[in-house]
Amino acid sequence: MPIVSPQRQPLPKGQLLINHQWRDASNGEILPIIDPTTEEVTTEVAKATVEDVNAAVEAAHRAFESGPWSRMHHEERAKILFRMADLIDERGADIGLRESMDMGMPYRDFMEIILPHCSGLFRFFAGQAMSAMNGSYRSSYESNVRILTRREPLGVVAAITPFNFPFALTCSKVAPALAAGNTVVHKPASDTPLSALALAQIALDAGLPEGVYNLVTGPGGSLGDALVKHPLVEKIAFTGSTGVGQNIIRNSADTLKHTTMELGGKAPHLIFADADLESALQAAFWGIFWNKGEVCVAGSRILVERSIYDEFVNRFAVMAKESVLGDPLDPATQIGPIANRKEYEKILGYIDSGKETARLVAGGSTQQINSKGYFIEATVFADATNDIKIAREEIFGPVVPLIPFDSEEEAIRIANDTPYGLAAGIQTSDIRRALRLADHLKAGTIWTDTWHKYHPNAPFGGYKMSGYGREQGTEALESYTQYKSVWLNLA
Ligand code: NAP
Repeated sequence: MPIVSPQRQPLPKGQLLINHQWRDASNGEILPIIDPTTEEVTTEVAKATVEDVNAAVEAAHRAFESGPWSRMHHEERAKILFRMADLIDERGADIGLRESMDMGMPYRDFMEIILPHCSGLFRFFAGQAMSAMNGSYRSSYESNVRILTRREPLGVVAAITPFNFPFALTCSKVAPALAAGNTVVHKPASDTPLSALALAQIALDAGLPEGVYNLVTGPGGSLGDALVKHPLVEKIAFTGSTGVGQNIIRNSADTLKHTTMELGGKAPHLIFADADLESALQAAFWGIFWNKGEVCVAGSRILVERSIYDEFVNRFAVMAKESVLGDPLDPATQIGPIANRKEYEKILGYIDSGKETARLVAGGSTQQINSKGYFIEATVFADATNDIKIAREEIFGPVVPLIPFDSEEEAIRIANDTPYGLAAGIQTSDIRRALRLADHLKAGTIWTDTWHKYHPNAPFGGYKMSGYGREQGTEALESYTQYKSVWLNLA
C-alpha cells in the first residue's frame, strides 16, 4: 500500500513522566521545539530540573525494589512488551509525524524501515525475556553440591539518546532493559524529544506498573550529568558523540556504573572494480545520504578502485545532483532538512573545508522551501585523501569524500586509518575477497554488497573510539543483566 503522509499540524505539549504521572517541570520552565523544515516552533516540552531527575530516579528505584516488575514472571513481562510492540505499530503514523517534524526524517523512511524495526525490537526482547532469563543448575567439585546460576536485572537504567533516529535508539535501549526486569529513566536529546513522549504514553497504556518507566526532557549538561552521577542509577545506556561518552565514563566512575557506549563513526565504503557498478552506486548513495547523512554508520568515506574511479565519480555526482531535497512529509523526498541550526552550520563549515582540500563535484550549497529550512544539498568531493579534515572527522551530514585506491592492501590500510570503528562496507562480486576483507576491517558491522541493514537479532556496536557494548541481539540483553550463583548443599 502506498504511504500517505499526514498533514503538518500543531503537536501536543509534552510533560515529564515521573512515577506514572504526567507533570510540568518543578520550576515550570519549558523548551520550545522547532521544526527544521519551517523553522517554526511546533510545540513545547517541559524543561526538567535536577530535582525532577532525582524524583524520576527515586520513583524508578522504588519500583525496582518493591516490584512487581523486577520480580514478575518473565512470561508476564513479555506479554506487556508484546502489547508495547502492537501499540507502536498502531500509533506509527503519529510517531512518524513527530519524527519528521522534530528532526526532518523522511516520513516514508520512518514508516518503511524504522517503525517495523522498533516494534520488532520489543517483540524480539519479549521473546528473549521468556527464553533467556531462566536460571540453570551447574555442577561443582562435590557431587552433592549444585550451583543454581540465576540471571537478574541490574536496577535503574538511565537511557540517554541522541537527536538522530530518536525513536529507534530509544527502543533499542528500553526494550532489552525492560525485558530483563530493570526500571528506566529516559532522557532524550533536547532537540528531538517528541517520539519519546509517544513511547512513554505507550508504556502506560500497555500496562507497565507504576514507576517502571520515567521520562525527563531537558538539557544533557545538567540532567545527563545528574543521571550519570546518581548513586541509585546502576547503568547508563548511552548513544551520542564520542566526547560526551568519554565525559559520561569519567563521571560515572565514582559510582562504578555499568555503561554501554554507542558513539561516533566514519565508516569506509570500499568499491572494487569487480562490483556490479549500478548496485554499488545505489549502496554508496543510500549509505551516505539516507536520513541526510545524520547517521552514525553513514558510509562517509567512499574508497574506489582507481580503474573505475573516474566513471564512479561522474555517475555518483549525477546521482547526487538529481537527488530530491524537500519536505520530509512529502513521499517523494529523499533528503530532508538537517535536524537543527547548530548542526546545519557545523556541516556548512565542513563543506567550506572540503572546498579548500578536494574537488567539489556535486552540491555544496543550501536550499530552502518558502525561504525556510535547514536544507543542504547532497555534496560530493572527489580526489580526496584520507588525511584531510572531511575524511577524518565525523561530519554527520550529506557530505562525502571519494578517495581512490590501487590495491586491496591499500584499501584496508585507508579504511582502518581512523579512530572510529562502527561500520564498514565492501562492494565486490568476489565472495572470497568480501570475507577476507571482513576479517581485516576493524568495525562492529560489515555490510557486503548492501548498506543500512538492521535486525533486532544482529548485535550492533563499535570498535575503537566508536564505543563498547552491543545493542540488539542476545548480547544486548546480557548487558542489562547480572548473574548470581546460589549454592545448594543436597547432602
Ligand atoms: P551528543 O551531543 O553526545 O548528545 C547525546 C545525548 O547526550 C543527548 O541526549 C544530550 O543531551 C546528552 N548529553 C549532553 N551532554 C551530556 C552530559 N554531560 N552528560 C550526559 N548526557 C549528556 O550527541 P548528538 O549530537 O545528539 O548525536 C550525534 C552523535 O551521536 C554522533 O556522534 C553520532 O555518531 C552518535 N550516534 C551514535 C550511534 C551509535 O549507535 N553508535 C547512533 C546514533 C548516533 P542534549 O541533547 O540535551 O545535549
